[in-house]
Amino acid sequence: MEKEEKILITRLCIASVLFALSFFNFLGDIGKFVTSLVGFFIIGYDVIFKSLKGIIHGDIFDERFLMLVASIGAFAIKEYHEALAVMLFYQLGEFLQDLAVDRSKDSIKKLMDIRPNFANVMIDGETKKVNPSEVKPDDEIIVFAGEKIPLDGIIVSGTTSLDTAALTGESIPKDVSEGDSVLAGTINISGTITVKVTKCYAESSVSKIIEMVENAENKKAKSEKFITKFAKIYTPVVVGLAVLLAVLPPLAFSQPWLTWLHRALLFLVVSCPCALVISIPLTFFVGIGGASKKGILIKGANHIETLANLNAVGFDKTGTLTKGNFTASNVKAIGCKENELIKLCALAESGQSHPIAESIVNFAKQKMKLDEKLVSEQTVLPGLGVKAVIKNKTIYAGNFKLMESIGVEVPENNEIGTTVFVSEESKFLGYIVISDEVRETSKSAIEKLKKLGINQTYMLTGDKDAVAKTIANSLKIDKYYSELLPEDKAKIIGELKTSKALKIAFVGDGINDAPVLKTADVGISMGKLGSDIAMETSDVTLMDDNPEKVAEAIKISKKTMRIVKENIIFSISFKLIMLVLGALGITTMWLAIFADVGVSLLAILNSLRALRIKNKN
Ligand code: ADP
Ligand code: MG
Repeated sequence: MEKEEKILITRLCIASVLFALSFFNFLGDIGKFVTSLVGFFIIGYDVIFKSLKGIIHGDIFDERFLMLVASIGAFAIKEYHEALAVMLFYQLGEFLQDLAVDRSKDSIKKLMDIRPNFANVMIDGETKKVNPSEVKPDDEIIVFAGEKIPLDGIIVSGTTSLDTAALTGESIPKDVSEGDSVLAGTINISGTITVKVTKCYAESSVSKIIEMVENAENKKAKSEKFITKFAKIYTPVVVGLAVLLAVLPPLAFSQPWLTWLHRALLFLVVSCPCALVISIPLTFFVGIGGASKKGILIKGANHIETLANLNAVGFDKTGTLTKGNFTASNVKAIGCKENELIKLCALAESGQSHPIAESIVNFAKQKMKLDEKLVSEQTVLPGLGVKAVIKNKTIYAGNFKLMESIGVEVPENNEIGTTVFVSEESKFLGYIVISDEVRETSKSAIEKLKKLGINQTYMLTGDKDAVAKTIANSLKIDKYYSELLPEDKAKIIGELKTSKALKIAFVGDGINDAPVLKTADVGISMGKLGSDIAMETSDVTLMDDNPEKVAEAIKISKKTMRIVKENIIFSISFKLIMLVLGALGITTMWLAIFADVGVSLLAILNSLRALRIKNKN
């Protein structure tokens, strides 16, 4: 328990004893007054202090002010118990709420805990546990079975399977061996492996993920901002009504002053909007936590709100709906030997992260050794291909648009798949046809979106029309756009947003689609686990290669928003009822405060439901 908590509990106890004492008649009026006043200061000094500070800063109308006015008023009409009770119950309520919120946050943080605790390093032939932040890139660490992998790296010896559930939400183990890369935060299930560290801890994906989730709380959703605005208007209105309530009936209808003053004070006490103020940020936090448990990183409460209101989703093709694992289905050399064509093309593509580039390099490596030092210059032409200088020759590799732009004529071809044309300056060398596979989950990803009421799905691709058409048809995507450059994609999404009033998300693999991810209402990146660009350019990151998670993210967001709305409606209507009862003098002050705490706690419990999303469908 924290020190502050202990102090508050002590204060609550002392004030409760004094409160009980103030009921004894032998104390007399003065004695009762003094006991209550002492209790009042003991329990309420911080409220008084903060409220006065608020007044000095011109920020008069907060809930503390309401409490203060109400209790001073109660003293003025000689209702000493009530004066103390207002403060006592208010503080008790705050305490219970803080407790509930802290506990909930702790339990969610535990769920999200992917933070590694130690790394084993070899020192003088013995393994020693050190803090992951002390390990530098190129150091070797040993990870035993059952341990969490502490840093990103590459396996240098050993084989094992990994449990990536903490990052991806998928529980199927992944087999890895020498040469495979591993990510911090995943768990080594079966064998001992030696890992060569590639990134220091602060740069590792796990620490970036933790940072993002922690910062997510700071990005306020509109409904949260609404509450702040609401409180700013609400409080002065309530104070105004309370004044009317105290003054009007006695003046206009010669009612007894004391009764109406009492009711006005009660009205003030009841009015504090605690349940709302606490439960709404908590609900968003719980929703973000629940999503991260499923391998979905939502980087702000504002995105939850947008996700819940989407009516359209656009997808990138390569690497998103398709695996981005191309295999070469045909090689046609025209201006040079076949092996020379493959070599030049692969060298031009070497070191690039685009799925086409990686696949071509892999294909070439099966046939020959590539000497990457021969490449002296390399330029990526997004949506077109690459340009590279190899042994003083300028080589272009890319689609027909690229060839067109440098004035190279290419033969018509009806090959199924993506054709990568290669030229040396304006001399056409030939082409490699590669084909990709649609992900097994892509079709159901679209179906699931339809089930959630998202009726408009789009595919935007830089690939040629024939390929785009086949894939869009087989996945039942409503509309596709082909042969686009990255900036065209952004333009189309921008136009869809304005002309059709769509609320649209765009899902991409983060490679050359940063502009469109920014233009969409929500940018969702997926693809290579832990790829930096993907994580940084988007609002939502799916930690694995499954486009079905888009629907999942929307579902979690819808549920979170439903709970937010429930809490808003529930606490506001409860407030209204209590206000009316208070104005009519039907309820008592203690009952009112106590009931208020109850509502807050119920709202908090309701928030926790955002964590539980059923797995089916
Ligand atoms: P998508 O929109 O489907 O994700 P991209 O915008 O990444 O596709 O690429 C569009 C097209 O540009 C590809 O179909 C390909 O023809 C060409 N292209 C892009 N990058 C490369 C590359 N590195 N090598 C060859 N061709 C490329
Ligand atoms: Mg792509």
